[in-house]
Amino acid sequence: MVSLLIAPIKNRKSSSCYLLFVLFIYCLCSAIPATAYTEVMVNSVPTPSGMVLVIVDGLGAPYIYQEYTPHSLDGSSLKVPYFHNLSVLSESGTKVSMIRVPQTYTEAGHSVLVTGNSQALSDTVGMPMGTIYDVAHDYDCLAFGIMEKGDSSSICDEHDVIVHDTSNSMNNPGIVVESSSSVSSNNICMNIREIMQEQALQLPAQLQESKQASQERYDTYDRWALTTASQVVEYMAAEAPEQKYILTVNVGAVDAAGHYRKYDGYIGTIQGLDRDIVPLFQTCTEHNIAFVFTADHGMSFTSSDSKGGHQSDPYSGMDESQMIPFIVHAPDVPVKLLNEEYGQQDIASTLLSIMNLPNGLKKSDGIQIPLKEHTTLGVRGPSTGTIELWTEGELIQHASNDDNYIFIGLDRQKKYTVKYIPDDTKSEIFQKEIEAGSDQLVVFSMDTSASDPADYWKPRYIIGALVIILINIVGLLYIKRILKEQ
Ligand SMILES: [Zn+2]
Repeated sequence: MVSLLIAPIKNRKSSSCYLLFVLFIYCLCSAIPATAYTEVMVNSVPTPSGMVLVIVDGLGAPYIYQEYTPHSLDGSSLKVPYFHNLSVLSESGTKVSMIRVPQTYTEAGHSVLVTGNSQALSDTVGMPMGTIYDVAHDYDCLAFGIMEKGDSSSICDEHDVIVHDTSNSMNNPGIVVESSSSVSSNNICMNIREIMQEQALQLPAQLQESKQASQERYDTYDRWALTTASQVVEYMAAEAPEQKYILTVNVGAVDAAGHYRKYDGYIGTIQGLDRDIVPLFQTCTEHNIAFVFTADHGMSFTSSDSKGGHQSDPYSGMDESQMIPFIVHAPDVPVKLLNEEYGQQDIASTLLSIMNLPNGLKKSDGIQIPLKEHTTLGVRGPSTGTIELWTEGELIQHASNDDNYIFIGLDRQKKYTVKYIPDDTKSEIFQKEIEAGSDQLVVFSMDTSASDPADYWKPRYIIGALVIILINIVGLLYIKRILKEQ
């Protein structure tokens, strides 16, 4: 880039040609789909085309799981209506009946959900290979977000395109659409951005149709996020069915109702969600998109006639604040009820497993919830090489000509041996025994003391390096030509 800045602009025509050329090269590089890895099927298992992660802000599991009765702080039981669609959703999918959050507030809840670290806050989200989005990006997935709350700047930065409400206000929403500069020439991302921008323009008018602080206004706010999500899923299915992605949707009205509209308003807003969640769920099912339903934290009430809270004592100690729903509908995830207790930090690696992505989370202290019969193994070598997968003394799979492999459909009960033979015959052969009980990522490195190469394998880093090299070569040629002309 320096060469571009110091080159004297004597000839406007050739300099604009150069700029056009640079732009062309940049577009070309960005448009090339990065084929950054080789996928090997050990057993034939279906992989979803994408995942929609619905985070209902402030929704405690005791309010919607029928096996629980919610209580107020004084110990009296709270009445809940029957939420028909949410009940169908939990009965027809895989449901974990007890998941506790380690920290009962929005920033922490979202940070834990995406990092798998029980103490995570925004700074953890920003760490390299810290989130599900980092791992997904490494395997050529895109990350889209529609977030009414939970949109800390570090969460926004993880997304390729995100629409979020900067004001968290149903009276005067501050909806902003942002996209990462690395996707500015990616057509899919730019079209998603357009869909989000159109939706953003419509929200204020939609909200104005109902009275301030009315139930209808709260319902409209959540419905807007869910409708936008459906549009993104529809667009991807029609225009980019091969492009995998994670779409994170935070609906914010349930939490807001808990804080401002007392218990009745909270329940009323869950009823609105119960009605409006259906189209998004159906769209996901129709297009082979995994559908995950959870929350950042719950909500507790002093009494049935009080406003709610969750962050501080005594609210934070209540089951109603700590227990969140976790419901999954996805291919290869059998319908079942898991009664073991898990933590919110166990969700991140489980989300990756739903997408058949290896658990490359650097900061996770969670364990993977065993939703699936099969697991995924990612293997990276120090250079191009051949990989072999053995079990019970038999070679069952092998592949060549890459340094980044992913084995899908490993049998959870089996032990495997993975061998990595670099093409460079002078290099050593690597070998590791694997227990396939959960997803994992194995990195074979020549120098184990060096920083983990996983950080530098991101397709965007490779493309970025190529672009910089090309720009500098062209710049030097251009300077040479100008010097000749003089
Ligand atoms: Zn929250």
